[in-house]
Amino acid sequence: MDCLFCKIIAGEIPSAKVYEDDTVFAFRDIDPQAPVHVLIVPKEHIASAKEINETNSAVVAHIFEVAAKIAKDEGLEDGYRIVNNCGDSAGQTVKHLHFHLMGGREFTWPAG
Ligand code: 5GP
Ligand code: ZN
Repeated sequence: MDCLFCKIIAGEIPSAKVYEDDTVFAFRDIDPQAPVHVLIVPKEHIASAKEINETNSAVVAHIFEVAAKIAKDEGLEDGYRIVNNCGDSAGQTVKHLHFHLMGGREFTWPAG
């Protein structure tokens, strides 16, 4: 499959890996928008949040568990933001489900 994040998970494209287990892979964003900017993805190819269903949703809970662990390891005691862009109008550019874990600066709300 011609998917950038599947290739990163497979090691065909190099990345700065932060965490890996049987179902989840996490790596640093190539264009960080915060001092800490990690992408957390399921190893299974799920195109977007729209494709989350009762069969594959357990990995999403696990991703949030991993996010809490990474945030702790990265020293984000003051808080962090987890973002999922779903679909073109939300700005999703890579069609493999991913959660942005960002921290190390202040964030405004609502996000623009
Ligand atoms: P989206 O815009 O789909 O929510 O997020 C995609 C993210 O993937 C962007 O923040 C972008 O910087 C990141 N990205 C795109 N290509 C690469 C790459 O080759 N390596 C890494 N580490 N991140 C990438
Ligand atoms: Zn993929």
